[in-house]
Amino acid sequence: MSEELNTLIKLQKIDSLIISLKQKLEIIPLEIKKLEEKIQEIDKQFENEKKKIINLEKNKKEKEREIEDINEKIKKLKEKTSQIKTNKEYQALLKEIELIEENLKKEEENLLLILYNLDETQKNLNEVKSNLELKKKEIDEQKKELEKERNIINQKIEALKEDRKKLINELPPEFYEEYRELMKKHKGLAVVEVKNFICQGCFLHIPPQLYVEIKINQSIYHCPQCGRFLYYKPEEKLEEAQVQS
Ligand SMILES: [Zn+2]
Repeated sequence: MSEELNTLIKLQKIDSLIISLKQKLEIIPLEIKKLEEKIQEIDKQFENEKKKIINLEKNKKEKEREIEDINEKIKKLKEKTSQIKTNKEYQALLKEIELIEENLKKEEENLLLILYNLDETQKNLNEVKSNLELKKKEIDEQKKELEKERNIINQKIEALKEDRKKLINELPPEFYEEYRELMKKHKGLAVVEVKNFICQGCFLHIPPQLYVEIKINQSIYHCPQCGRFLYYKPEEKLEEAQVQS
């Protein structure tokens, strides 16, 4: 195979790899952002559960104060009984005390309900919390993995760029210039294989005479339609490559 053609094929392989690695790099920050949003959502969920507890605590305190007030009232009314002179007044007072005591019973039941709710919500919160911590840990690990992947990809790209430099030095400048122009024009694909008479860049059917010449791989040929560099990969080599991989 012509040396220049061989170098062009290698250069294309490296550049295609760099392009696909860069595409992967672009996706990573988006994935990290998604994970961070997940964490924020989880935090919000937890905050909401905590708010429920705070509200219940508030209700509890209010109810306790209410009960205290009622008890105070009953105590005062009971003290009044000794000062009462008529039976009628006495009966009225007893009736009043009875009504308030009934109210007290109701409020004490309400307090019990609040205490029960508080207990249940606290249990819930604890469960949610341990779940959230587990999830957060998981997400953090995924984030670290992505960051590790990003570093590895960056290192790979740097190494490929070094290989690229060496290849460019081997290539006559006019070929490299043409390669660059084709890369720009064809979005990263300048050197393509011809397979069964077809240009794998633009799918033109290559004329038989040209196809025969390309098959020898002794010179540089271009696709008559898209202008890309063309090369032919012998079938045996393809099979060999498949066995190796
Ligand atoms: Zn073509």
